Amino acid sequence: MRAFRSTRAVTTSGVRPAAILTDGEMIAAIAEWGQVPESATLYEFGNMVLLPGLVDTHVHINEPGRTEWEGFATASLAAAAGGVTTLVDMPLNCMPETISVAALEAKRAAAHEQAWVDWAAWGGVVRGNADHLHPLIDAGVPGFKCFLIHSGIDGFSWVAEPDLRAALKHLRGSGRPLLAHAEAPGPVETATGEIDRTGGDWRRYATYLASRPDESEVEAIALLIRLAEEFQTPVHVVHLASAQALPLLAEARRRNVPITVETCPHYLWFAAEKIPDGATPYKCAPPIRSAENRERLWEALQSGLIDFVATDHSPCIPALKNRDKGMWNDAWGGIASLGLALPILWTAMQQRGMGGDEGLSRVVEWLSAKPARLAGMTGEKGALEPGAHADFAVFDPESEWTVGEADLLFRHRLSPYLGAGLRGRVLETWLRGERIFSNGTIQGSARGREWVRQ
Ligand SMILES: [Zn+2]
Repeated sequence: MRAFRSTRAVTTSGVRPAAILTDGEMIAAIAEWGQVPESATLYEFGNMVLLPGLVDTHVHINEPGRTEWEGFATASLAAAAGGVTTLVDMPLNCMPETISVAALEAKRAAAHEQAWVDWAAWGGVVRGNADHLHPLIDAGVPGFKCFLIHSGIDGFSWVAEPDLRAALKHLRGSGRPLLAHAEAPGPVETATGEIDRTGGDWRRYATYLASRPDESEVEAIALLIRLAEEFQTPVHVVHLASAQALPLLAEARRRNVPITVETCPHYLWFAAEKIPDGATPYKCAPPIRSAENRERLWEALQSGLIDFVATDHSPCIPALKNRDKGMWNDAWGGIASLGLALPILWTAMQQRGMGGDEGLSRVVEWLSAKPARLAGMTGEKGALEPGAHADFAVFDPESEWTVGEADLLFRHRLSPYLGAGLRGRVLETWLRGERIFSNGTIQGSARGREWVRQ
């Protein structure tokens, strides 16, 4: 037996001095700080914060097929360095897209002995693959992702209401959520057409922002709420950017509609007003909106209306960002930030008067417990509790540092967070009882395994 001891352990009953007792890969018990059994090997973390390994449910690993963009080895290294012990991979940007069991098997083969952390794979809902959903459920995917607008990937078609209905019919009663990229095509097509008709300047960020208006998110979310309510099947809105959709979501929650929502670090950190023209590493969809919008997202996160935060780490080869031309309509969308979520949120929380033990509990809820719940991992991932995996991060909440290229362990060291001054740093990461990261260095071997939903 081993004991992991800290005066600040983030437990399900708050932050307190505790000793986490483990037996092999599992947590056996949460003991009082002073009650470490004599037979246990003690790992002493002093007043550094001991928290459950983080769970990032929105990551584009891109392997197999686009491993030159990102892959299991590099993505999971970046995760380990950021205290993230579980990744859930999105079904697109890899080839084949994860829309059938055969494609899932190709992903499993690609991940073999490459992942430093545990992972799972969302299945995809695309036009015409409704017959593949049950086999994918049986094969162990935790849920499904779809797009309501063109995804940028021709092999992953977007779906409209008839396809959504067909999918929800299959998912009803399965416990698997349907995750949706919530932008409706109508308002985007209208806005983009107007920009092109009037000769808009695509180097300006304001042009890109205008091309993906708030109404697009609001319209898509209204449809998702209607269907979640009708089918009584959990629907999850990924990467909410527009605060204009919050009243609709609040009203749906009051009616107990089974709808949840995530936002991303970039919507909580950056603001449209500060994004330079031509700075395409900031491109993502939906776009980063105003500072005022950002503060409303923070309020919703604090109130619990936004359930949690996931990175939507979605890198590409640097050439596809077309930085020399800086045209927003001619650059791949997606922000690379895997492993940075904890210090980004923690820093932003200090700026808004949140912190202390209460803040630590909240940030663990947003980055670990609640994303684990979406993927059906509660009880195994996302909390320091008996029976769960011994996945830990050791966090120094006071350390201050500046993000440099050497800190980015994903494949391409290109991110709008380069140069950001952050507070809080992950010192160690443990996966199922083994240390995989310590003071800047990866340790052990790539023994991450797939988490299969039963
Ligand atoms: Zn994404």
